[in-house]
Amino acid sequence: MKRPSYPWFKNLIWLFACLQAMAAHSISFQNSEHLSIENLKKFMDWFTNSPHPMGSKEQVKIAQDLQETLKKMHLKVREMKFEVEVPNLDSTKFGGKVAMAGLTKKVTGINVVATKKGSENCSIILGGHYDTKYFSQFKFVGANDGGSSTVLLLELARVLQKTKGKKETYIHKCDIHFVFLDGEEAFLNEWNDGLNYLGIQDNTYGSKDFVKTQIKDKNGTKLFDNKKIELVIILDMIGHKNQKLYFTKGSNAKQAEIFIQHAKDIDISNFPYQIEDDHIPFAQEGIPFLHIIDWKNLDEWHTSNDTKNIISFEKIKNLGNSIKFFLISERK
Ligand SMILES: [Zn+2]
Repeated sequence: MKRPSYPWFKNLIWLFACLQAMAAHSISFQNSEHLSIENLKKFMDWFTNSPHPMGSKEQVKIAQDLQETLKKMHLKVREMKFEVEVPNLDSTKFGGKVAMAGLTKKVTGINVVATKKGSENCSIILGGHYDTKYFSQFKFVGANDGGSSTVLLLELARVLQKTKGKKETYIHKCDIHFVFLDGEEAFLNEWNDGLNYLGIQDNTYGSKDFVKTQIKDKNGTKLFDNKKIELVIILDMIGHKNQKLYFTKGSNAKQAEIFIQHAKDIDISNFPYQIEDDHIPFAQEGIPFLHIIDWKNLDEWHTSNDTKNIISFEKIKNLGNSIKFFLISERK
C-alpha cells in the first residue's frame, strides 16, 4: 500500500524550520556578578559565526539577537534604524558584476542602545561597532575588529546593570548607555576610497547617524535623553592576545588619567596620533571622549586571520574590570 503523502504538511514543517532559523534568539549566559570569560567566549562564538556587514540579512539577525539578549539582562533596549547611501559593490566600477548598477545604493543600518538608569541628570556612553567589514575575496569574521568590543560591551551591560556605587560615582549618578553601532567599516576597501571616488564618507555610518539624530544641544551642552553627556568611551580592537591599549589623541586627558589610576592588569597609555573611528562624530560636537584601541597588533587586521585564535578573553575581561573600576571611582 502506498503511504498517503501530505505535501502541505511537509511544506508547513519546512516553513516552521525556516522561521525558527530566522527568529531572534537571546544568547545564553551565566549571571554571576563578575565579568565571565565563559560568557565572553559564548558571545564571541555568536559574533564570529558568519560575516555580518551593515545592511546584510546576517546583521539584521545579529541586531535582533543582541536586543533579545540585552532585554534578558533587564536593560531598557532601543533599536534606532537609519537609511544611508553607500557604495554599491554590485557596480563593475567596484569589482561587481552588474554593468548597469548605480554607483551607490540605499542601505538600512541599525544602532542598538541599552540603558541602565542613574539617579541624576547625566549620561555616560560606552560604544563600539558591531558590524564586520565586507570582503569579497575571503571570509572576514572580525573577532578582534568588531567582535572584541561587542562581546565586552554585552558582558559589561550584564555586570554593570547589577553594580551599585557610592553617591559620588558615575555608576550611581549617570545613565549608562551601551551603544552598539552599525556600519563603522567602509564598504570599499580603504577608509577614504568613498571620498576619493564618490565624494561620500564611506565609514562610521552608525555613529554619524547617532550623533545627528539623538544628540541635542542646549546652550552648548550636549544631551542624550535630555541628560548631559559627561563622557563617551569608544572601544575598538581591544581583544588581541598581545593586547597593548591606547587612548588616541584627543581623548580627554583628565579622564584618561583617572582611568589609568584605576586600571588593573592592562597595559594602557596615551598615543600621540589621532585614529579615525566612531569617536570622531562625538568629538566634532565637542563631547569629551576616551577612544581606546590597540593600534600595535595589526598583523591580522582586516585579514581572514582575525579569528578567535588571536583573542585573549582574559585580557578583554581585564579591560572590562578596569572600565568598571573607573565608573565606580568617586568624583567631585
Ligand atoms: Zn575594521
